[in-house]
Amino acid sequence: MRNSPQYPWNVAPKRCAVCDGRFGLIRHYSWRTALCSKKCVNRFKARQEGDHRWLRGLHSAAWQRAQ
Ligand SMILES: [Zn+2]
Repeated sequence: MRNSPQYPWNVAPKRCAVCDGRFGLIRHYSWRTALCSKKCVNRFKARQEGDHRWLRGLHSAAWQRAQ
């Protein structure tokens, strides 16, 4: 999984990747991305699923053009 922008493993992010807020006592991780709360985890996952849908749409559009 090296095809998406990630923080280097040895550099701890200082801010939540979703809301850019500062971390509280607990950090949540999704796909090795640090997030500040369960709410942000859900938003992050929803965004990832949206990306996958978008990619599928792109693939099918390219397929239709090739026909
Ligand atoms: Zn957050």
